[in-house]
Amino acid sequence: MDFNERQKHIIEIVKSHEPITGDRIAEILNLTRSTLRTDLSILTKTHVLEARPKVGYCYVGDYMPSQTVEAVMKTKVEDIMGRSVAIDEKTSIYDAIVMMFLEDVGTMFVLSDKLLAGVISRKDFIKSALGGSDLKAMPVTVIMTRMPNLIMAEKQEPMLKVAKRLMEHEIDCLPVVDRLPDGQGFKVVGRISKTNITSHFVDLFSAI
Ligand code: ADP
Repeated sequence: MDFNERQKHIIEIVKSHEPITGDRIAEILNLTRSTLRTDLSILTKTHVLEARPKVGYCYVGDYMPSQTVEAVMKTKVEDIMGRSVAIDEKTSIYDAIVMMFLEDVGTMFVLSDKLLAGVISRKDFIKSALGGSDLKAMPVTVIMTRMPNLIMAEKQEPMLKVAKRLMEHEIDCLPVVDRLPDGQGFKVVGRISKTNITSHFVDLFSAI
């Protein structure tokens, strides 16, 4: 959150006079209490100030430097995406499970003629194991989530938008794709997961 000049001024006043009432802050700024209502509400909701009943406002946290906010907003999928782990549609469920362990991932992409055809994750494998079928004989296509139900991302999309997509669909990972012309399909160029995003936040915020 990037605060305006008045909000920054309020923070400075509270820092040096805490605990301080809203009326007193208004007096120092030569403004009415109602003019400050929105600013004080923003500052308490963002946990920079705390409104203590019968005591006044106290300073509780540093506001986030605007460069960090900017860096979050500017981050694109291509800045943080990882290498995709893909298997051909003819791969057996058994071989795919082995591959998932070797590659140490939770989600893999399934390709048909080198284009994206499906996504397969841990729950799909667990379900297939419960079914008692012959995992060496059955191809991954039987259990994968397939087109057109795949949720995808593109390189130029903002990270935050894609993070929301992951939350909305309650999944861990999206294939990053290049869309081929004339509806010919999607080429997988990477993967973006909740881990990529969390790790980027940790990097950005550790630098503050
Ligand atoms: P896990 O199986 O480890 O819980 P997810 O929560 O990501 O992983 O996957 C749950 C279900 O959603 C699985 O059936 C999987 O095939 C499907 N799924 C995972 N990623 C996608 C995606 N990008 N698009 C569509 N379906 C997906």
